[in-house]
Amino acid sequence: MEKRSFKGGIHPLYNKELSEKKQIDVMDDPKQVVIPLQQHIGAPCEPLVSKGEQVITGQKIGEAKGFVSAPIHSSISGEVVDVNEERITIKSDGDNRFEPKEARSLKEISSQEIIEIAKEAGIVGMGGAAFPTHVKMKAPEGKKIDTVILNGAECEPYLTIDDRIMVEQPQKVVEGLKALMKATGATKGYIGIELNKPNAIEAIGNAIQGDSSVELVTLEVKYPQGGEKQLIKAILDKEVPVGGLPVDVGSVVSNVSTAAALADAIEEGKPLYERGITVTGNGIEKPQNIIVKVGTTFKEVVEACGGLKDNAAKVISGGPMMGRAIDSLDDEFITKGTSGILVLTEDEVRLVEERTCIRCARCVDACPMSLMPNYLAAYSRKEMFKEAEELHLFNCIECGCCSYMCPSKIPLVHLIRQGKAEVSSKKAKK
Ligand code: SF4
Ligand code: SF4
Repeated sequence: MEKRSFKGGIHPLYNKELSEKKQIDVMDDPKQVVIPLQQHIGAPCEPLVSKGEQVITGQKIGEAKGFVSAPIHSSISGEVVDVNEERITIKSDGDNRFEPKEARSLKEISSQEIIEIAKEAGIVGMGGAAFPTHVKMKAPEGKKIDTVILNGAECEPYLTIDDRIMVEQPQKVVEGLKALMKATGATKGYIGIELNKPNAIEAIGNAIQGDSSVELVTLEVKYPQGGEKQLIKAILDKEVPVGGLPVDVGSVVSNVSTAAALADAIEEGKPLYERGITVTGNGIEKPQNIIVKVGTTFKEVVEACGGLKDNAAKVISGGPMMGRAIDSLDDEFITKGTSGILVLTEDEVRLVEERTCIRCARCVDACPMSLMPNYLAAYSRKEMFKEAEELHLFNCIECGCCSYMCPSKIPLVHLIRQGKAEVSSKKAKK
């Protein structure tokens, strides 16, 4: 089978076997949800409900303020018990009452209506960054979108929910892709899937049969094959310019779970208030793929998956490469951007001491953005930000390939991230 790819990248241990064959389960409703008002970059939502109010599942409870923003919806029915600047807490009445919005047919609605539905349903990118989809669908003045690419690569080790969505709901994924194409005016759609997902390749291949506007592209198993710029390079052989966006080469990239959620919003009138995630790792009793309500605590999700094993040492929100270590299972809540919960064991997180750089250039070879991570990290550490910016600090996608490859265990991506944060905060103060 064909395997397209990009330059650089790494081959970490994928560890997908823990959950890749597990059918998506549905978690019981939690007794209470805590829904953050800000679930992505951009402006936080403004609450539409107050303490004591009764709400139903799918009801809009926070309005998007600002251009890059998406509304939030209640994920259960019950009583609003707290509203503050950061979040809305709702206690379940156990009924899970839900009134869907008007269901529409993709054939009958206009591109503008699709964008409006995506906006009202709070659809955001479900691969991690949670960027509002309705914003992505509108090309800026003077730009044109001709291609939509669906990211079915799921190249992060351990995570398998996108794989399962493609296997279990291929029609929905394709329907979502068609909606994205109609909304953007794109005439061609691609679904890129890594070769380690044969069942997804088969299911999506069957679902697009007879449709010449959509093509399935099989990709080399390599991290970060699911990065926007890496997908565009692999599928279209186009380079997104430094500091640019996919739209600069006429493309929009979206995740397969996002496409399925968009199809749900159009055809079932269902806002984005729950999502599928992978709960996995050698530190969890029952690794699985599971649909959970937004606002559920990590603790409850972990308990629903059998709980932590005795040797569990570290919990990560997302995958091991781009995810974020979390301190407390009680204070962390599922958001629209949570793709997984990964629990590593003591053996897997043993700290290795940092040594000096031996100038082996392994980090340079691995960098999928053709950067020099060794210099970027050293400049960031020494606060030589001008020099770091000249070497395209902000073109780093924080994939972590460089840190993974470094034999001296220098925390390269961590230093680069810190450098970016310092520069951004300095610019914001000016
Ligand atoms: S410098 Fe950035 S883009 Fe390059 S490998 Fe490191 S984290 Fe990835
Ligand atoms: S991989 Fe590590 S040791 Fe090798 S050049 Fe890069 S920073 Fe230096």
